Amino acid sequence: MSKDPVCGAQVNEQRPGATATQECQNFFFCCPHCKDEFLKNPQRYVAKQQPGTAAGCCG
Ligand SMILES: [Zn+2]
Repeated sequence: MSKDPVCGAQVNEQRPGATATQECQNFFFCCPHCKDEFLKNPQRYVAKQQPGTAAGCCG
């Protein structure tokens, strides 16, 4: 199970309502609405990793 970063619901990765990728991380959402909210302001939800560690992993 993954946590929906927007509403905090537990989301089954096998059957997510929606998914998105930001900062090299995959996010799972309970519904498209939460994905929309996430994409409006992803920085608000993405837990920043240590600078430099993710370099090169995203095209
Ligand atoms: Zn949600």
